[in-house]
Amino acid sequence: MSTYVILLGPPGAGKGTQALNLAEHTGLLHLATGDMFRENVRNQTELGQAAQRYMDRGELVPDELTISMLLDRLARDDAQLGSLLDGFPRTTEQAEALDAALAEQNAEIAATLLIDVSADEVLRRLGGRWSCPDCGAVFHEVFSPPQTEGACDRCSAALIQRDDDQPEAIQRRLDVYAQQTAPLIDYYQRSGKLRRVDGERGPDAVGADLLAALESAD
Ligand SMILES: [Zn+2]
Repeated sequence: MSTYVILLGPPGAGKGTQALNLAEHTGLLHLATGDMFRENVRNQTELGQAAQRYMDRGELVPDELTISMLLDRLARDDAQLGSLLDGFPRTTEQAEALDAALAEQNAEIAATLLIDVSADEVLRRLGGRWSCPDCGAVFHEVFSPPQTEGACDRCSAALIQRDDDQPEAIQRRLDVYAQQTAPLIDYYQRSGKLRRVDGERGPDAVGADLLAALESAD
């Protein structure tokens, strides 16, 4: 029986790093659904072509099509132990459709792991980033400050804060996340699948808790 797990967390929660770590320790396939989608379109699979037709018309790709891609991917050899789903579902409707599709295969979501990080902490983590416009080096006010304030360690160019890293832009991303994800969190809470992990600690502590939460879900 395959173990299917959903990973949730705001931008800046370290979801990508934790997904890699979890995959390594459990043998579950880390399935970043955005990558899966682009791969299908690039490789012109039947489902990728169908998705392309919707996008060409400026329409949203129907959830059933994305779920078909997902089930195809989960049927491959490297996902036999199961998978960590990262990026899907994003809405309650998608979560319901995914549950129904898995149920048809006598499968289900084992757990939904939420890496809990407050908005203030996300702003602290993502808001302090400064980039070098010349060589691309990235610094952080708190975690990896440049030796001279405002200047690149490598090439001395004046550092800039990219538009994406401005506090207002981060706040907008957080608002979208909260709006989309809150109903999803409720949904998995109601079904008893939600496991909350305190994400405001070092990556090792968070990783250990995620593993423990996953083991307790089986
Ligand atoms: Zn530089």
